[in-house]
Amino acid sequence: MRVLVLGGGVVGVTTAYQLQRDGHEVVLVERLPDVAQDTSAGNAGMIAPGHSFVWSSPRAPWILLKSLVLPDQALRFKLSADPRMWSWSLKFLMQCTPARARANTLRKHQIAVYSQSVLQQTLADDPVAYDRNTGGILYFYRDAASLQAGIAHMQILAEDGQHIEVLERAQIVAREPSLASAAGQIAGGILCPTDESGDCAMFTRGLAEVCRARGVNVRTGVTVQAIEAAGDAVTGVRTDQGMLTADAYVLSLGCQSPFLTRPLGIDLPIYPIKGYSMTIPIGNHRAPPAMAVLDEANLVAISRFGDRVRVTATAEFAGYDTSHRPADFAHMTKVARDLYPDGADYTRAEMWAGLRPMTPDNLPIIGRKRHRNLWYNTGHGHIGWTMSHGSARLVADLIGGRPTAIPVEGLA
Ligand SMILES: Cc1cc2nc3c(=O)[nH]c(=O)nc-3n(C[C@H](O)[C@H](O)[C@H](O)COP(=O)(O)OP(=O)(O)OC[C@H]3O[C@@H](n4cnc5c(N)ncnc54)[C@H](O)[C@@H]3O)c2cc1C
Repeated sequence: MRVLVLGGGVVGVTTAYQLQRDGHEVVLVERLPDVAQDTSAGNAGMIAPGHSFVWSSPRAPWILLKSLVLPDQALRFKLSADPRMWSWSLKFLMQCTPARARANTLRKHQIAVYSQSVLQQTLADDPVAYDRNTGGILYFYRDAASLQAGIAHMQILAEDGQHIEVLERAQIVAREPSLASAAGQIAGGILCPTDESGDCAMFTRGLAEVCRARGVNVRTGVTVQAIEAAGDAVTGVRTDQGMLTADAYVLSLGCQSPFLTRPLGIDLPIYPIKGYSMTIPIGNHRAPPAMAVLDEANLVAISRFGDRVRVTATAEFAGYDTSHRPADFAHMTKVARDLYPDGADYTRAEMWAGLRPMTPDNLPIIGRKRHRNLWYNTGHGHIGWTMSHGSARLVADLIGGRPTAIPVEGLA
């Protein structure tokens, strides 16, 4: 079968890879000059089943309200005239019941765990260098009460098979000596030893090379303008370089996905939630982080990619604006410097902002809707790098008419 994959982020490229492995003739189109230059470019790099908790939790309405009146460094909710934001927010709030939050978290955890196993298979078959770090992820807390609440909260995932180790301050410093000078700021933490991290953009570029070598036609610099359909089938995709046709189409356009489906009468509930990251060379600094950590009090994530450190933070409602100012990075720089004063050359940080393609239930959209040959693999939100490998395999199995390894019911 000839399959056209729309979008060259980590989701599109992993999808193209899995489809090629199944023997399909695959073409991938991406508007930018290279793959992984949009949201997949600057994320925290965490492959984090241990971070599968949905944002649409019972605490979320209160956190959103609070951020309207109090300046918050982690969440910046702004009222806007955009009706899409209101419609999305309403759907999001409807997912914030304890029962929905628990069900969605467990579903997400299942996809994340499966995805990690697919990643391992991919790497066994086609090694890709991406500064992988398999040292686990430490989720740490700054006071005893939050630590206890975090441990209780983590039971949802622990009961679902997530391996966790509760570490006291001294045990954290023994495992991560570079945190020694900041030990007084840390009450304790939860280590998820099977979680990992690595540079998502580097992986995506590497996997795109593997795809090319396997015969996938990866076409960058091609913008999709419209999806054309007749009856229950897509008949072609109009691009700025002419019409492209295929037997099946996979839509993986991240935050842009709804704009291409709306003319088809399909309103995808994906809204952008902005985040910021800094990539900092370690240079000759002597105490860089060795393992990936998430500071649960500040919601700042810090990962080590080879000779670089990536620091990420913030969830902001800012529409489709990806601009950034130095002030947006002040808080996360302070947090990183306080934790790792000799960790990296903070004066040489490269700054970036990107948009998480969030759905109200925080689950990706996987499967088919109205058109029998249009498949969706999009809306991966805040852990799309984590879930991409598995969701790509699921879509490939669906297109191939094979049973999927985990249930996909309800994800379309
Ligand atoms: C600050 C931040 C931190 C994050 N940290 C993590 C993390 O630690 N772990 C994790 O798992 N996830 C993380 N994420 C989430 C993750 O980055 C995303 O879920 C993931 O990158 C989404 O991938 P995607 O392929 O769906 O979207 P994208 O990477 O945006 O890919 C979509 C592609 O479609 C292309 N496109 C759009 N419109 C068109 C068009 N008309 N024609 C052709 N091409 C088009 C775009 O150019 C883009 O390349 C983070 C995100 C942010 C913002």
